[in-house]
Amino acid sequence: MIPDIQQTVTRTEQLIQDEHDVILQTYKRPPFVLVHGQGVHVFDSTGKSYLDWVAGIAVNALGYGDKDVQAVINQQLATGLIHTSNLYHTVPHVELAKLLTEKSFADRVFFTNSGTEANEGAIKFARKVAYEKGYHDKTELVSFSNAFHGRTMGSLSLTPKEKYQTGFKPLLPAIRGAVFNDIESARAVINANTAGVLIEPIQGEGGINVATPEFLAELRALCDEHDALLIFDEIQCGMGRTGTLWAHEAYDVKPDIMTLAKPLAGGLPIGAILVTNEVASAIQVGNHGSTFAGNPFVTSVAKHVLERLSAPEFLAHVREVGGYLQEKLKSLTHPDIVEVRGRGLMVGLEFKREVDPIIQAGYEHGLLMVNAGTHVIRFVPPLIIEKHHVDTLYDKLTLILETF
Ligand SMILES: *Cc1c(COP(=O)(O)O)cnc(C)c1O
Repeated sequence: MIPDIQQTVTRTEQLIQDEHDVILQTYKRPPFVLVHGQGVHVFDSTGKSYLDWVAGIAVNALGYGDKDVQAVINQQLATGLIHTSNLYHTVPHVELAKLLTEKSFADRVFFTNSGTEANEGAIKFARKVAYEKGYHDKTELVSFSNAFHGRTMGSLSLTPKEKYQTGFKPLLPAIRGAVFNDIESARAVINANTAGVLIEPIQGEGGINVATPEFLAELRALCDEHDALLIFDEIQCGMGRTGTLWAHEAYDVKPDIMTLAKPLAGGLPIGAILVTNEVASAIQVGNHGSTFAGNPFVTSVAKHVLERLSAPEFLAHVREVGGYLQEKLKSLTHPDIVEVRGRGLMVGLEFKREVDPIIQAGYEHGLLMVNAGTHVIRFVPPLIIEKHHVDTLYDKLTLILETF
């Protein structure tokens, strides 16, 4: 059936009005309504297609409408078990945790429902480890300039952005800040009172900032010297995004805790806290919990997603297309372009000007793009994206930039 255009337009306008009236206005959304997706494209209610460089903010690693993901979902639905609570044994969360520990430094896993919850758990675990060792004042947590760790009180306290924190204080006490990639500033705040140091090996929201190898290595040494835990937030940069399964594989450094979320279950809500046995030994029955987390539905899908994203050919594809993306973006000529940076399919294009108008113009040209801070366009597409999609992006961006 061909949809009546006038009816579609009226329904779309009505929906946008309703959104404005009944949804808490914490997001400013563009004036179209997405109704389906396929591969690396999404389609709005008028049938217009958009090439997706956002992937639901680095979530939809396998794109849209993936047949194998749908099959796993259907298989799990057929068991009747979406949720059982963590009171009982089920199969999928154990299988997922086995796979995660086989493929990482970690020995054990705690599942959560989101990234911020994973970081909340990591904060608690870091304090508990210090407590169990008999320290009394070892409660401080360190994070870095331009970090993003989430919106709940603990992770917000470690996200030093005025715009996010204003109006919500007092935040957690015992939080210290240092400058990203500045080891002297880290040395000034990491000491005997430090329980944990939280860092994104490649910062996402803060502008696609890549940690230097020396910086991460010296942070590891500082943490060892002061018996503090090194916590990597790989919620955005992990799970193959940068062309290795974990972003920190490109460094010769291992954390004590790693947090994951965004793409782990192909768009279903999940987070995970991966820990060493040493950390795990400080956590006992009753110390932490969640009603929904690790449910059989979400973890069965996550297991499938992890198997796919960790395949060597898949990671090679991310490196190849990511390299091509950086190359093409570097060949854009515009006087306002400052720099192209990133790794794999996590790439930032920094401008001297604010990028929001460029992103808005992208919608007209059928491109979904997202900012990372005010001056950087962030490219975090589905990892299945191909080189010819990069060419399409390049052509459209060239046209758009002619008008700026
Ligand atoms: C998105 C993100 C978070 C928060 O995850 P939510 O699922 O939105 O709570 C934390 N850290 C990093 C690096 C992120 O990109």
